[in-house]
Amino acid sequence: MRLYTGFMVHPLETGRLEYFPDGALVVSDFGQIIFMGTRAEALSEYENIPEERYENAVILPGLVDTHVHLPQYQAAAVGTGELLDWLNTYIFPLEARFADEEYAHIHAQRFFHDAVRLGTTTMSVYCSSHRRATDIAFEAAFHAGLRVCMGKTMMDFGAPDTILHSVSDNIADSLALAKAWHGAGNGRLHYTLTPRFAGSCSRDLLKKTGEIAQAEGLRIQTHLSENPSELRYIAELFSEHASYTDVYHAYGLLTERTIMAHSIYLSPQEKSLLKAHNCSIAHCPCSNRFLQSGVMALRQMLGEGFRIGLGTDVAGGSSLSMFNEAKEAAESSKTWNILHRGEEMPAITAEESLWLATLGGAQALGLADTIGNFAIGKDADFIVCRMEEILPESSVFASPANMIARLVYGAHPHIIEKTVIQGQTVYKR
Ligand SMILES: [Zn+2]
Repeated sequence: MRLYTGFMVHPLETGRLEYFPDGALVVSDFGQIIFMGTRAEALSEYENIPEERYENAVILPGLVDTHVHLPQYQAAAVGTGELLDWLNTYIFPLEARFADEEYAHIHAQRFFHDAVRLGTTTMSVYCSSHRRATDIAFEAAFHAGLRVCMGKTMMDFGAPDTILHSVSDNIADSLALAKAWHGAGNGRLHYTLTPRFAGSCSRDLLKKTGEIAQAEGLRIQTHLSENPSELRYIAELFSEHASYTDVYHAYGLLTERTIMAHSIYLSPQEKSLLKAHNCSIAHCPCSNRFLQSGVMALRQMLGEGFRIGLGTDVAGGSSLSMFNEAKEAAESSKTWNILHRGEEMPAITAEESLWLATLGGAQALGLADTIGNFAIGKDADFIVCRMEEILPESSVFASPANMIARLVYGAHPHIIEKTVIQGQTVYKR
């Protein structure tokens, strides 16, 4: 057992944050939270257990990145243009390099190391289209102690031959990887079926993916309704379908374990389809701006009851920092208001953004029974952030809500003191 004390903040099911200025977390030897409350209560209930006390710091649940591409990390902040051209020019050649096992190994290690250094404890990851590189990425996530939902990106057309595989290879590779890794790492590693998007998957591949998702009970992740040129491309390719969402629906890919990235330009009928199947959404505001894709109506979609998490979408997004993504989620909701004068909705606050980056992400990935806040019985995934780095000692704005605002808006790469996953320290400054 171990006792962690300091200023604790965590999200509640109600959508609010709960603050413990002198808080305490007791973690079992198995990495689970067995107490959460004030330090005084903890000290009276648990005598003689080792205490790690943090002054001038805030202890938060680990950050959850619901959408990110491992093999694109080298291209973060690189390139211009919009989605389809950017993929062809910068991304596909980069992903092809993951055929080289040595390269795949080095870059997977770097990716996960940088994620925990930035306070991310759970990630929903697209690997390259190579089976061996995906295997290597799982090994790297296992050794880094990360919690991941991850899969080999499936494509059988619409990209260079070097990263395409046949339908049968895509399905066989995915099943083999799922068998090897799903549930491994003390339950931290999850296999996610990962058809890139309808624009690079044939009808046969989409159909077979839907079938094995149902047979094996696996998660699915893909892209939906991101960019106007992509929408036109999909409408031409799948002209027999009523909408982009209907393509996925027709092939059995809409499930309660499906997470759709972007989902910016959805019609009311498409939203109804997604709601009827309880799909969740990975909102990627940094990427939506970097690639000039659009501005998602986050407030409206939250009001409509969608499960929504935040995704960095590296390299569409230029940073693995989930604080940066949380800031952009708040700012992007203001941009939506600027573009829709007369229909303004209340802007997303920093507290709400932090909620989305933690419990919201956990709910979107179907992991809220295990992570997302400090409820008793959940795994101890948390981070310690050094507040002196971003707040003057006697700030006139020192309320808890303002502290979270300064954290979300002012976080820099060196703010993380410690990252803990399932009770194990995976990063220490
Ligand atoms: Zn993406």
